[in-house]
This record gives sequence, structure tokens and C-alpha cells, in this order.
Amino acid sequence: MLVSVKEMMQKAREGKYAVPQININNLEWTKSVLATAQELQSPVILGVSEGAGKYMTGFKTVAAMVKAMIEEMNITVPVALHLDHGTYEGCKKCIEAGFSSIMFDGSKYPIEENVEKTRELVNICAEKGLSLEAEVGSIGGEEDGVVGMGEFADPEECKKIADLGVDILAAGIGNIHGKYPENWPGLNFDVLANVKAKVGDMPLVLHGGTGIPADMIQKAISLGVCKINVNTECQLSFAAATRKYIEEGKDLQGKGYDPRKLLAPGAEAIKETVKEKMELFGSVGKA
Ligand SMILES: [Zn+2]
Repeated sequence: MLVSVKEMMQKAREGKYAVPQININNLEWTKSVLATAQELQSPVILGVSEGAGKYMTGFKTVAAMVKAMIEEMNITVPVALHLDHGTYEGCKKCIEAGFSSIMFDGSKYPIEENVEKTRELVNICAEKGLSLEAEVGSIGGEEDGVVGMGEFADPEECKKIADLGVDILAAGIGNIHGKYPENWPGLNFDVLANVKAKVGDMPLVLHGGTGIPADMIQKAISLGVCKINVNTECQLSFAAATRKYIEEGKDLQGKGYDPRKLLAPGAEAIKETVKEKMELFGSVGKA
């Protein structure tokens, strides 16, 4: 059964750890993430971007697949199925498809419009028992073709959105999607502390978890971050393992072309990456 992230976030805040959101792209991805969460007894949030949802033929397919896998794999740890950076229309589709959590990314709208649309979604989610993540201030890098400038979130705007009754809040603090550039100045903990001071107990989300140094991750958690999103890092480890298999000519040996063999090293690499993240975020054994 899928759960919202509400209870996960409350426990994470009290226990001073973060729950990983691992974005999924296909069946192998989902299977690897669920197996690792179960093995390590960690709660997990499966993130689905609108692009990934489209790739998997639609949100209904994703919801049906994840629900069936939880049952067939005997997964007992808390699992949330969460729309990542949803448009207003995408949010409505995921609510209908049976997701347990959504993120409305209204950062491209003027603050008044972001507030208006977020308020509407707060009401729908409350009624249906879903959790809702909102974003203030765009997050740098590229996400599904939308390039953010990586500005810092305005703590006053964060409060305005938090007060609407969202469950989790993503605030830009210098984090970037994708690989971090060489000259990246790091997370801005002053901004994080200022946001935290305004929003109180609201669990905060750190997007762009790939490549942030471990000490910065831990400091962010100590300052109120309860959910960290990881996407690119799994893609990189999957690609590297698959490349190695092909470059070693293993697809040409015996039945090495069998997709179950061809994709196995990549699937194992995802497990390894997810394990590292769960250990770093402190979520192991917290299911
Ligand atoms: Zn993001």
C-alpha cells in the first residue's frame, strides 16, 4: 500500500534524518529501489517527473506498476509515490491516477498565482489524503527542459506558501539539478536557517541531491531538511555499469544479449547508489 509522506516527514524531523526521494524511470529502476529500501528497512519516496511518467506511458501505468510491485515483492516499508515538479494539470492527473503524494512546482508563476494554485491543491490533497510539496524560488540546473536560475528562496515567500497548509516545502538554497559545476559555491546555510526560522516545523526538501558533499548534506539535515531528492546519480551509475558490460563484450558471450542479463549490472548499480544515499541520509532502519 502506498502512503503519503506526512508521517515519514514527522518521524524524520524528530529523528534528525532525511528520507530519500529516488526518481524512477522504468521497471528495473523501481524494482531496484524497492528491493534496497526493504533490505535496509528504510522508508522511501519514489519520485516521478512528468517526463518519466510520459515515458512509462502515463501516470496510471506507473501507479499500477508500483502498487503491484509492492504486493508481489512483499514490500513492508513505507513507500510513497510522488509526482516530482508537477504542473498544475500534471498534479490533477496524478491525484486521479492514485499517487500518494504530489509536488506542485509553481515557482515559474508570480508569487500570487503560485499561492492561488497551491491553495486549491492543498484542499484537494487534504480531502484525498495525499501529501503536497510546494516550491519557492527556482532550483538551478535543468529539469525536463525547464532551466532555473538557482536563485535563493525568499523566506517571506516561503512562509506565505507554508501557511497555506502544504506538507513539505522545497526552497532553493543554491542547490542545482544534475551535475554540479566545478565552481559551485555550495549550499547557502544562512538562507536555509532564515527559511527555517520563518516556517517553523515545516519539513524542508533538498532537490538536486547528486554530488552535494556529505558534510553539507548532514548540515542541511541538522537545519531541518527531511527529504532529499536523488535522480542524476542513479542515472550515472546505471549508465556506467551498462557501458562496462557492453565494453567488456559480455553481450556477445553466450546469451549475454538477454535483456535480463544486459540490464542486470545497471540495476545492481542503482541498488548500490540508493544504499549509499540511505546510509548518508540516516534513513536505514527507520522504516
Ligand atoms: Zn527537483
